[in-house]
Amino acid sequence: MSRFVGKVAIITGSSNGIGRATAVLLASEGAKVTITGRDSARLQESKDAILKAGVSEYDINSVTADITSSEGQDNLISSTLQKFGKIDILINNAGANIPDANGKTRTEGGIDTFLKMFQLNLQSVVEMTQKIRPHLAKTRGEIVNVSSIAAGPAAQPQGPYYSSAKAALDQYSRSAAIDLISEGIRINVVQPGFVETGFSTVARGLNAEESSKFYNTMGSLPHCIPVGFCAQPEHIASVIAFLADRKASEYIVGQTITADGGSTLVLGFHANFGQKK
Ligand code: NDP
Repeated sequence: MSRFVGKVAIITGSSNGIGRATAVLLASEGAKVTITGRDSARLQESKDAILKAGVSEYDINSVTADITSSEGQDNLISSTLQKFGKIDILINNAGANIPDANGKTRTEGGIDTFLKMFQLNLQSVVEMTQKIRPHLAKTRGEIVNVSSIAAGPAAQPQGPYYSSAKAALDQYSRSAAIDLISEGIRINVVQPGFVETGFSTVARGLNAEESSKFYNTMGSLPHCIPVGFCAQPEHIASVIAFLADRKASEYIVGQTITADGGSTLVLGFHANFGQKK
């Protein structure tokens, strides 16, 4: 397929996980992409993955930046315009459940942790949306925000600040979608469930092996993930691409698509009814 020929996309948090898979998918279907993250070694791995998919080096703009810094945001936008001349698509994917200094992510986390969580998972999206608005208005562009099933309505005691930031992101996205659609800018949201990425390494301090074991265990529990396996980043990338493709999803505005293998439809008591014979 070549859905994104002639399009220019910025994908935040593309030095790993869902963002990397999205960058590979969009670029392999014709988009010129700006990839970014703080870790330049992992960002190079993303660039290598895109090159391996047969994309020309000229169609990749790689920017090492902290998405919570104003200079980092400005650099992403200005370098994209300088290299590719316009912007059609913004994927606000960078995010994390950041533990506090003692490795805690629950309600005992300090206000500094709370603020960091909102700065990364919400404020950076608000800032990127404001800064990119005039450029997307010119191209009638798309924004896809990556939220989480943690946004609710189920409680998230293991990550109250992270989940609150994602819930706020969802409501911001709905509101901004209606505000900006008159300028031709379309905003939608993807809410992933469990996805095998670096997320648990950050949130739970797991090493690669522990993280893989954790995802495999969750995938084997039908009352956690009914579809029977944990998502790979590509499962989410394909939903993001659908929402970033105006031809495919033009009439979807301000909506949230949940891609979680059924996780949000099961309740704890389902586990006690046993398996179907
Ligand atoms: P990963 O940890 O694999 O990737 C996170 C990406 O975000 C990395 O590229 C990381 O880059 C980037 N990032 C984090 N903080 C910053 C920062 N301050 N500045 C710039 N980039 C930053 O996790 P996922 O791929 O899973 O996460 C992608 C999105 O998906 C997140 O928004 C997450 O909340 C969401 N999500 C993930 C789920 C999962 O189970 N994996 C479930 C639901 C939602 P670097 O470290 O190089 O800065």
